[in-house]
Amino acid sequence: MASNLEQLLRRLNLPYAICPVEPVSDEAVEAYRRWIAEGRQAGMAYLEKYDAVRANPELLLPGARSMLIVAFPYRSEAEIELPIALYARGRDYHDVVREYLNPILAEIPGDSRICVDSAPLRERYWAAKAGLGQIGLNNQLFVPGFGSYCFIATVLTTTQLPPYRPFEFQNADPCGECRRCIDACPGKCIPADGSAIDARSCISYITIEHRGPLPAGLRLRSIYGCDVCQQVCPLNRDIKPTHIPEFAPSDAIKTLTLAKIGNMTQESFSAIFRGSPIKRTKLTGLLRNLNQLATK
Ligand code: SF4
Ligand code: SF4
Repeated sequence: MASNLEQLLRRLNLPYAICPVEPVSDEAVEAYRRWIAEGRQAGMAYLEKYDAVRANPELLLPGARSMLIVAFPYRSEAEIELPIALYARGRDYHDVVREYLNPILAEIPGDSRICVDSAPLRERYWAAKAGLGQIGLNNQLFVPGFGSYCFIATVLTTTQLPPYRPFEFQNADPCGECRRCIDACPGKCIPADGSAIDARSCISYITIEHRGPLPAGLRLRSIYGCDVCQQVCPLNRDIKPTHIPEFAPSDAIKTLTLAKIGNMTQESFSAIFRGSPIKRTKLTGLLRNLNQLATK
């Protein structure tokens, strides 16, 4: 690997892996197709598209030879009053990750492309295959040292980089006998057989991606997202917080209250959540969630 690239990766001080570009295994492709056929993607119609691309990353970047996969830990220990998912408290990860990875991209010859939740790429599958972490029953990737509180970003490149496997795992199954996330999940949507969760009743999906009214009678604990299956997980004990300042709660988020959100105008929503992932749910979605927040 070019030494400049190695230095930059070391300076980033983030867990990463490098693996060759190849087709996704038949087993994983079939499992994904079954998940779609059963309608478990709920209203996320974009997940039904680009089946062939999802099964072969080379179709995302013609001539792609290697994938550099980087974990960006996001869990900040700063306390805030607002009940929102941990990942959404700082700046939008799509922007932050690109800012960190662009200098890396500049050091790689040939064509390259950054994917961060922005392309039909099986990010967790590749991260696990490359040895960056292991996938638990809650479908999250657990990265040693940081647990599941990580964004996964991938640089696809036409340059062949030497493979790099950062971790070797003793047990193929990280969960063992544990079933805590299944029992604690408020949507009861984590299958015990290790297959993908049913987004139709996942509170994270419902509060962020779902458009329209919430299911009648649903009482929420959070107005944006859900961390329950990560919070109860023993694999998330004794992990380090993020050292990425952009993921610490913004001043706007720190001082925001439910009462202030209840009185928000479109103008103030746009100003406060500019550059925040929370803008995804739009003001109507946030107010809808607020109205179904459990009072105790
Ligand atoms: S995010 Fe919440 S609702 Fe969704 S699977 Fe995890 S615990 Fe269940
Ligand atoms: S809570 Fe238990 S079963 Fe669920 S992902 Fe964590 S270790 Fe696995």
